[in-house]
Amino acid sequence: MVDFQQTKDFFHIPDGFTYLCGNSLGPLPRDLPATLASQLSAEWGEMIIGGWNNAGWMSLSAIIGNKIGRFIGAPKDSTIMGDTLSIKIFQALGAALKLNPKRKIILTDNSNFPSDIYISKGLAAFLNQGYKVKLVNPEEIIKEMNDQVATMLLTEVDYKTGARLDMVELTTKAKSEGIVTIWDLAHSVGAVPVNVQQADIDFAVGCTYKYLNGGPGSPAFIYTNPKLLTQIQSPITGWLGHANPFQFSLDYEPASTINRLIIGTPPVIGLSVLDFALGIWEGISVEDVHDKSMQLSEMFIEGIKSHCPTIKVISPENPVDRGSHVALEHPEGYALVKFLIENSVICDFREPDNIRFGIAPLYNDSADINRAVEVLAMALEYQPWKYELYQSRNFVT
Ligand SMILES: *Cc1c(COP(=O)(O)O)cnc(C)c1O
Repeated sequence: MVDFQQTKDFFHIPDGFTYLCGNSLGPLPRDLPATLASQLSAEWGEMIIGGWNNAGWMSLSAIIGNKIGRFIGAPKDSTIMGDTLSIKIFQALGAALKLNPKRKIILTDNSNFPSDIYISKGLAAFLNQGYKVKLVNPEEIIKEMNDQVATMLLTEVDYKTGARLDMVELTTKAKSEGIVTIWDLAHSVGAVPVNVQQADIDFAVGCTYKYLNGGPGSPAFIYTNPKLLTQIQSPITGWLGHANPFQFSLDYEPASTINRLIIGTPPVIGLSVLDFALGIWEGISVEDVHDKSMQLSEMFIEGIKSHCPTIKVISPENPVDRGSHVALEHPEGYALVKFLIENSVICDFREPDNIRFGIAPLYNDSADINRAVEVLAMALEYQPWKYELYQSRNFVT
């Protein structure tokens, strides 16, 4: 059994905070600043440019890609780090369209994250070859799969409601229709068990600053099915995706390995931070974390039902149909979130009326759940929306 009390001590949670936003940004690992400071001094400080060879900076994207592999069931050397998720979405989409050149539809759902939708539409417009984005209700995805669809871009766990799509079922159906599949695992990695091989998906992408605690803007990952590797054409052909980057040839020749999905210089500092944060997972399985998350989320929903009966839970009832956050709905959601934050219960708001509570068992426990329920009950009684202070909006919600 994992001792979650011990993993909580690995993190710095500011005094008095009940931190329930790990689905948006994981907290700082306590010993990270000191370790990173000495690592930076020893590598960047003392080696300067020699760090590329002597500190192994060039291999970090692949080494950490393999560490991410274990969270998503990916085989060795099929996952690589770099850039941010939005760019990896663009890259996977562009490559997917090239793999299915006769078809013109990108299928996604209307509860997908804005970047996923905007990038799909932006790429279709940029290509200017008749590509169309088909946005459908999540329940209608299967019905919309047909021989016109080139690729399907879905996010496994809905960023608003926490609802979890059936990756195996949807992928199996899509494959039977000849559709190239891309899964966005932003809210899955480190939260729910994922197995890209079981589902035999084509591409997976995700960020690492949510449940993997890689810090603000930490590097994203991209996985590709090894069967496709040598056929993939990345729409962004940067020098480090080349088979021999240091030949500085005038002709682009893609690497025959997962390196072909590297674009440019690896974000060494971000990768080092992420590497440290991933160390916390040694000896801990995503299954253990997910079991605990389901237990805590059930406790939270029970608490809401008994102490805050006027507020609606919009996440699915069955815990296996959810990711690791629970969403509530209230017409005055923004004012309620402001009140909660002012009382040190850190959660967040998504338009138009959605309140999200991220549950990350590495550092959240039953005391956090009880505190969140208690302050929410207080808020509902206080009715903060009646006061100007709780109405005015910040830029980041
Ligand atoms: C968090 C998230 C993103 C964010 O992309 P960035 O490029 O890291 O800003 C994209 N898609 C989904 C589904 C997300 O949950």
